[in-house]
Formats: sequence, C-alpha cells, structure tokens
Amino acid sequence: MAGTLFDSIIFGPLSSRRLGTSLGINLLPTTIKFCSFNCIYCECGWTETNSIEKAQLYTAKEISTSLEERLIYLKEQNISLDSMTFAGNGEPTMHPQFVEIIEDTIRLRDLFAPNSKISVLSNSTMLGKPHVIEALVKVNNIMKLDAGSEHMFQLINKPKNRITLGEIVEQLKKFQGQLIIQSMFVRGEMEGVSIDNTIDSEVEAWLKHLVAIQPKEVMIYSLDRRPPLALLEKIMEPQLEVIAERVRQLNIKASVY
Ligand code: SF4
Repeated sequence: MAGTLFDSIIFGPLSSRRLGTSLGINLLPTTIKFCSFNCIYCECGWTETNSIEKAQLYTAKEISTSLEERLIYLKEQNISLDSMTFAGNGEPTMHPQFVEIIEDTIRLRDLFAPNSKISVLSNSTMLGKPHVIEALVKVNNIMKLDAGSEHMFQLINKPKNRITLGEIVEQLKKFQGQLIIQSMFVRGEMEGVSIDNTIDSEVEAWLKHLVAIQPKEVMIYSLDRRPPLALLEKIMEPQLEVIAERVRQLNIKASVY
C-alpha cells in the first residue's frame, strides 16, 4: 500500500477527534514521507530507505507565508480554529528550522487566531536536541509512546536510526510533565512474528514508563484507516477503555479516541 500524502503545506481545517477544528501544517515534502520511524500503522505508507536524502523541504519563510495567507482568509470568513496542528507527511521536528517555524507560528497565531492552540504531533525521536524540547514545551505537544518493551518498540515503530525506547523515555522525562502522550494500540503479525502491545506484560511495562514520565494526559487510540501492514487489527473501544482505566488509576488523565 502506497499510503496517502498531504499535497500542500497547509491543509484543512479538518474536524479532528482529538483536537476539534484543526488547521493542518505539513512541514514536510509533499512527494515523499520524511520520518525517522517506519510505523507499521502509518497512514502515509512505508518510509522509503533513502527518503531523507531525497526529500526537498519547504523553508521556514515558505511555511509562514502559506500559513499567514490561510489565517487571513479564515479570519475574513469568520472561521475559528481550536488548533493549528503540525502533522502531515512525517516527523515535523526533523525540519532543521523547526524552532524558527514554531516561533513564526506563535506570532501568527497571536495576530490572527489568538484562541487557537498550537499542537505538534511528534514521534519523540529528535529530543536529543535541547532546542527541540525548548520549542515543544511552548506549544501543545503530543508525543508518541506506543510500546512497553524494546522488542515491541522495534516491531511497531521500526526506527530508522539506532534510537532505543529507553532513550526516548529518558528524553520524555525532561519535559517535567509538560507533555501529552499519544499511544496507538494494535495487534497483528508481520513475517510470521506476532505484534500485540495490548498484552498484559506490554501494558505493564508501558504503565511504568508513564509513571516515570508523568504526562498531563494520555491519548489512547487504535487504527482509523487502512494501515500499510494488511495483517493489522484495530483494537476496539472496550479494550482501549480498560487500558485507559489503568492509566487513570495512576492519577494520570486518559482519554480514548
Ligand atoms: S511517526 Fe508518524 S509519520 Fe512517522 S512512520 Fe510513524 S505514524 Fe508515520
């Protein structure tokens, strides 16, 4: 499956299950997915081997100009936003001008859509760069943590670099609670290997990471669209609710989407 790529810098506004009326901002190329993960459930499809070398990124200036034009239009149409959301064709924090882009977006939000949040959906792999964390804590950051064990992390997220789950958890602790965790639950099989992050041992290990990270909220969800790996199964709401309840027992807010 090729997956679906966004074909512009700004898209929407769309109605988002988690974020309300959300204007999408895609910092990444429109012709190729640009990501440090290769998640088995990615709606953009598989990450190509040399995508980072092939990718042509938009500049911070191009992004802020497109955003400003769309915000002026939406204001003229009296359309209000709940969120301006960095998502799209890969991992936004990989953009080399990410910090500048966040600063520009805050300025434009204050001018044209002061009631809107700025949200960043991130896979948590670029947190070794302190300026990335500094930029993320200024906005509504929603950080990925899909696995409890290293083994399941490698199976589900398939990192393109050598990053480990343990390193990611250490970096997430640096937010000192100023973060939301997003976790995708799935079950399936790849090349004869079983993949299931809902089994007890996995959930237990994932809960221990949450205790260490102390996020202000956890967003729990499962597949919404057809994933690149066909043998992947959606986890239904009652089972997600059981997992969410275990998070709430730790005095951490949890919602199922
Ligand atoms: S982190 Fe997001 S964009 Fe990257 S592979 Fe996973 S789901 Fe796709």
